[in-house]
Amino acid sequence: MTLPALTGIAPETLADWLSAAGEPPFRAAQILEWVWKKKAASYDAMSNLPEALRRKLAAAYRLSALQHAATQGAADTTRKFLFRLQDGRYVESVLIPANPALYGEKSDRHTLCVSSQVGCAYGCKFCASGLAGFTRNLDAGEIAGQVIAAEQLSGERVDNLVFMGMGEPLANLDHLLAAIALITGKETLHLGARHLTVSTSGLVPQIRRLAEHPQQIRLAISLHGATDEVRQRIMPVNRKWPLAELFQALDFWNQRKNQKLTLEYILIDNVNDSLEQAAILARHARRLRAKVNLIPYNIVQGLDWTRPSDTRCRAFREVLVKAGVTATLRLEKGHDIDAACGQLRLKRETGEGIVPAAM
Ligand code: SAH
Ligand code: SF4
Repeated sequence: MTLPALTGIAPETLADWLSAAGEPPFRAAQILEWVWKKKAASYDAMSNLPEALRRKLAAAYRLSALQHAATQGAADTTRKFLFRLQDGRYVESVLIPANPALYGEKSDRHTLCVSSQVGCAYGCKFCASGLAGFTRNLDAGEIAGQVIAAEQLSGERVDNLVFMGMGEPLANLDHLLAAIALITGKETLHLGARHLTVSTSGLVPQIRRLAEHPQQIRLAISLHGATDEVRQRIMPVNRKWPLAELFQALDFWNQRKNQKLTLEYILIDNVNDSLEQAAILARHARRLRAKVNLIPYNIVQGLDWTRPSDTRCRAFREVLVKAGVTATLRLEKGHDIDAACGQLRLKRETGEGIVPAAM
């Protein structure tokens, strides 16, 4: 039988369950502490709970929605964790140490890139996640559980969270918001909303809905084209919500939120890397008061796209900077947060480069 995971249960729901089970209310705080603060690996580890309560809990809830299947990469570098879900599907999360160039050699900050769906329905032509097609949404316990599991496996504390793994988070907004409530909640993980970035390919109604959400979550837009003509060649979503509509939604976002928007722009050779696109992108970014994150395309096996030369990437950035836009460009391969995240796919199904988990 499939039981719900504790990592997806809101404190109020747990309180109701305890009351129905005839348990005193103070147990809720103890259980939440074991799950979210101490990251207990088993019910037996919850030493201040009576054995009978531990048994009742185990009969009602699984402790985790995820089973660790494999890790790729070593400490101090980008690590990918592969998790098996209850139904036998797999998702990945990527743990990225702070870039020393940005934060200094001694920084021990970590960003976790979290998946929101198994596969993705949006079919961007350059993306590995899109290649796999859409399988299903992750539930709140599966989304929030990735943070606990990554902290357990690495022994590190996650300081930043980016919803840039597999899937389109805004196509799974209800579960995403439930997971965000758990990740930011005082009694649960308690990470500040400002440390959370949701990345979207541009789902206009959902951007508006998220703009109305009271928490100061950050938003990143996968733009990848400065005109409809270029963008819709690589992103089918642009036919449904063309740039004019997307930008109206972003204006609305800017009215509601204090944090600067980020425009993500993958540089793909001979597709979207002309200096003319750069100039138009600069105008959009200025009007939206957004910063631009340029990401040289990371090659995906089975796809024909390539990255432009470093010189070309620098020239593209220069156009933005000269126009007064804050634009980042990291040319080293493999360490880039966005590149590492954007490449997620179900490797278990293709058998590529996965190291079995130590059992
Ligand atoms: N669906 C959401 C979030 C997941 S993708 C979105 O599209 O925003 C996270 C980021 O990785 C997106 O900006 C995506 O365009 C980018 N990405 C996808 N494939 C990539 C690749 N091969 N190289 C570099 N970035 C890639
Ligand atoms: Fe889906 Fe984002 Fe990949 Fe597009 S870039 S296919 S929206 S995961």
